Amino acid sequence: MNEALDALQKTIAEAEQTVDTAISLVDRLQAENKQLRAENERLSADGIHTCHDQCPRYACVLRRERDAALADVERLRQALRVLPFKDGNKYE
Ligand SMILES: [Zn+2]
Repeated sequence: MNEALDALQKTIAEAEQTVDTAISLVDRLQAENKQLRAENERLSADGIHTCHDQCPRYACVLRRERDAALADVERLRQALRVLPFKDGNKYE
């Protein structure tokens, strides 16, 4: 019985580490997004144009990639939020 509990606690500890790693990745992505946003602002400042979903301008491609990455980050954050072990060691 104790072995099963030990194994469960080990699994939980490993899962917590995985979540911490994922959160670090999210933080890094958001920092990169901030840089891209600033670069996008700079590049966008060079004129008004007719933009569309497949607009090939570098700034517009970056903006679409940024929006997609932000959506991914938000989905990941939501997924991490529902994991029970992030609120402490509920299993102990
Ligand atoms: Zn455009």
